[in-house]
Amino acid sequence: MSTTTDVVIIGAGFAGLTAARELTQQGYSVKILEARGRIAGRTWVENRMGRNLELGGTWVHWVQPHVWAEMTRYGIGVVTGPEFEKAYWWADGQRHEGPAERVLEIIDEPNRRLLEQARELIPLPYQPLNNPAVKGVDHESVSARIDALGLGEEARQLMRTFWSLNFNGNIGDAAFTQALRWCSAASGDWMLMFEACATYKVEGGTVALADAILADTAADLHLNTPVERVEQNNDGVTVTTADGATHSARAVIVTLPLNALNTVEFSPALSEGKQAAAARGQAGLGAKLWIKVKGKWDRFVAFGGEDWPINFVQSEYFDEDSTTLVAFGPDGNAVDVEDKDAAQAVLDKLVPGIEVLEVAGHSWVGDEFAKSTWPMHYTGYLSEHLEEMQRPEGNVFLAGSDYANGWGGFIDGAIESGLTTARNVAARLGRHKESVTR
Ligand SMILES: Cc1cc2nc3c(=O)[nH]c(=O)nc-3n(C[C@H](O)[C@H](O)[C@H](O)COP(=O)(O)OP(=O)(O)OC[C@H]3O[C@@H](n4cnc5c(N)ncnc54)[C@H](O)[C@@H]3O)c2cc1C
Repeated sequence: MSTTTDVVIIGAGFAGLTAARELTQQGYSVKILEARGRIAGRTWVENRMGRNLELGGTWVHWVQPHVWAEMTRYGIGVVTGPEFEKAYWWADGQRHEGPAERVLEIIDEPNRRLLEQARELIPLPYQPLNNPAVKGVDHESVSARIDALGLGEEARQLMRTFWSLNFNGNIGDAAFTQALRWCSAASGDWMLMFEACATYKVEGGTVALADAILADTAADLHLNTPVERVEQNNDGVTVTTADGATHSARAVIVTLPLNALNTVEFSPALSEGKQAAAARGQAGLGAKLWIKVKGKWDRFVAFGGEDWPINFVQSEYFDEDSTTLVAFGPDGNAVDVEDKDAAQAVLDKLVPGIEVLEVAGHSWVGDEFAKSTWPMHYTGYLSEHLEEMQRPEGNVFLAGSDYANGWGGFIDGAIESGLTTARNVAARLGRHKESVTR
């Protein structure tokens, strides 16, 4: 079967949905080919352990302009997370506990120093290469920069865990510039940056926002339709799906995560630069896990050792006889999202007397359509690859959070990239068609 449309979009995550809405509202015909049986990509709300849980992307903030504008557009509010009163942390080979502010105090001055050049090197977060001097530090790792601060052991270990949490991965090759980009997007304030990462959830779940965008597009959505091949020819592009069907279009927007990009065959092949970036991938290779524990616990955060399978936990939902925690670890392959004993073993070292009842999560690293969690780039990506990833090749355009300028790594980045790419595709296809009135 072969059908023709103006634009085929591969992937119905936030980038693909946003691009689809923009293009259909300008009158272009759009077909979305989505591999999974659901929309929303690396965000996923599922009923687990008796409540709707965000297994993927969750938190949003008003300093993230693209996602915030979408929430305003569709009248979707936020749900505020708990204000923490207590903290547990592991440092110097032992467990510590104290008020939550204590942990922030320990990492405040080190984070200020680590990120003091954020606004100087990245004065315009949506033009991350605007100051060429940023290239001079793009091969430095977060790990090396933390160690160069000359901190005492407790602060050093907490900082390393904190940044391993932010990268959801190993910080050995994690780009220092990625940390600068986050902080610059939060106007140079690391505490605002941290607040943006884990405080405000989307009312009704991220799926409410994804559904609202989908409902606002006239695109033809095909679920359970993995794409295997993208071929450019004189007439445009032909996309072949796993069921053997071909879909012709004038242009294609590919929203695959960087780590999954090389799973699709391109003819002609993507540039060497794009292939190399995809082969290296990005550092967000960790895990996110929900843990239900017995009893009503305090509002606490807990930082484990940097390389523990679970190195950060915070209490999120409080019921009469149980508390639901959200947890992260730097190595998705080291965490079995169904293994409650493994979660218990980690929590035993941090939070005395806690009893795990159930766990839930999704292995994003083992998911062939993600192969990663949130995009956190390796050293060199910003200076060597970002612009190349954003450069269309013929009528093949990439879009997605992995290729965003501002809050790359976030839902906001996916929406930003979807908007930008839709604009570029419309420009390529010629005069904007008349808006569709519904
Ligand atoms: C565990 C976790 C926690 C996160 N936490 C946050 C957070 O708190 N706040 C925040 O803002 N962001 C967070 N993120 C990041 C955020 O979810 C992503 O950056 C964003 O959702 C990415 O959107 P996207 O459209 O760029 O990519 P994706 O959502 O990955 O969309 C790509 C789509 O392409 C599809 N696809 C892949 N291969 C094929 C193929 N061969 N054929 C057809 N379709 C294909 C996929 O199924 C997917 O639907 C988190 C992500 C994870 C995984």
